[in-house]
Formats: sequence, structure tokens, C-alpha cells
Amino acid sequence: MLKIPITVCHGTTSKWAEYPLMPEHLGKMFALARELGFESIKYDQLEALMDGAEPGTGDIPAQPVMFDFDHADKTMLTEIQPLLAEYGYRGTLFFHTGLMDDSRLASKVMSWDEIAQLIEFGWGIGGHTVSHPNLSRLSYTDPDGDQIEQELRIADAAMERHIGEKPKDFAYTGATWSSIAEQKVKARYRFGRLWIADNYFLADGQRTAVAELMGVGGVGEDDGGPPKAARYITVDKSTRQSHRYRLPAMEICGCLMNELDQYRNYLLGALEA
Ligand SMILES: [Zn+2]
Repeated sequence: MLKIPITVCHGTTSKWAEYPLMPEHLGKMFALARELGFESIKYDQLEALMDGAEPGTGDIPAQPVMFDFDHADKTMLTEIQPLLAEYGYRGTLFFHTGLMDDSRLASKVMSWDEIAQLIEFGWGIGGHTVSHPNLSRLSYTDPDGDQIEQELRIADAAMERHIGEKPKDFAYTGATWSSIAEQKVKARYRFGRLWIADNYFLADGQRTAVAELMGVGGVGEDDGGPPKAARYITVDKSTRQSHRYRLPAMEICGCLMNELDQYRNYLLGALEA
């Protein structure tokens, strides 16, 4: 079984944030992954792996790692891209398009031109709705899923219009999920990804343990997060392959992954059989 570590963050932050993420710290994390022999992959390579490609053949590294990023924060281009590139890594940015239309946010949010620059640097992009709704709440205010469908359709169209490509993959918004959203996501995208900052999700209006949502055994670990098995994308020819529409991603700016030691242990965990 191949275990792929996957993290997500929302940009670098100041040292005054609750879980600060200074560029220097992020650089140390990338350096650690490099030192341990990890090579970054994007979703095309994940798809190939899940379809049976062998790690260590073609453009698939033997020891893959994934670096996801959520939201079009300016620091993606100014801070994170140069750091990733320094270690030969590439990321995937999932962003909600509504932010880009708000001119009051222009100093903090990337422009479409800047998104295009990231793509030129080799980044992938993914869908994340227009307005970042609470998907769990939408499941009972809009049980037929018309609203989520509209969010996905408009976001896809905006991306196609501005950068010439529709996203193939999707990240659920916040720690929220619903059956109807997943159904709509399945119809449009090849992967759906969750955001894991602690051990719970709001799913179909219920507080739900991450392990339960992901179909992984156990409840949680002492650090307040889900069972270890829920923290990696697993690729396996037998039954332990991750659900393509419930992939995990571990938040860096949170209690589970903010310390370098936590990240080191997480990476090392992927190397254990
Ligand atoms: Zn988000």
C-alpha cells in the first residue's frame, strides 16, 4: 500500500496568528520532505496511481507527497511558490472565485493574471465554489442541491473564461460536507478533497467524526485528530484505496501539523508499511 502525505494551508500568516505560518517555517517543512526523499505530485499523477500506475515509473515518483493550498491569497504567489520551487515542488491551488470579484480585497487576493502565473510555474488548480457556502447547512436549506450545482457551474465557467481551463478536482468548503454536494461534485470532477484541521466535520447537518466520513476504522488519536489511517491518501490494489471523493488533506496551521516534529512524524508515517 502506498501512503501519500497531503497538507493544505491558506497562505503564510503573521507570527501573531494563533497558528503562525512564517515563510521560513514552511521552507523548513519543504526541506524536511526533500531530505526524506519525497517528490511532489499533482492530481493527474494521483489519478494515474489510482488507475494502477506503479510508483517509481514514468513521471510517478517512488515516494509521492502532495502540497495543496486553499484560497487565492496573494502569498501563494509571492511567498509560497518561490519556496516550493526552491525544493523542486509544485502545488495545487483550490480557490473560490467570488473573492476575485471583490475589488476591496484586491490587495490580499490574487488576480486572475496572478493565478495564470501560478499555472505557468507548474501549479494545478481546483474548484472550491463561488461563495464558500457551508455545505452541511445547504443540505437542508436546499435539499435538491440546486444552489450547490449553481456554485459549481458558475465557478467552473469563471475559471474557463479567465484562465482557459475548467478545474478537474474540487475541495469541499471548510469542514463541511453533504451527500448532495458529493453527488454534484462527482458529476463534474474526478476527485473531491476534505480539509482536516481537527477530528470533526459537519456532514448532512450532523457533527461527524472524520474517520466515519472517510470510512476508516477507529475514532481518533490523542492529538485531537482522526486515526492515522485517515490522514493519508492511500493507494492500494485491494480494498484500502482512498475514496476518490473523500480524500483527506491535513491543515498545517492547526493543532495537528504546525510543529516541525509533527510534520516529520507525519512524513515518516507514510514510509511505514
Ligand atoms: Zn476554503
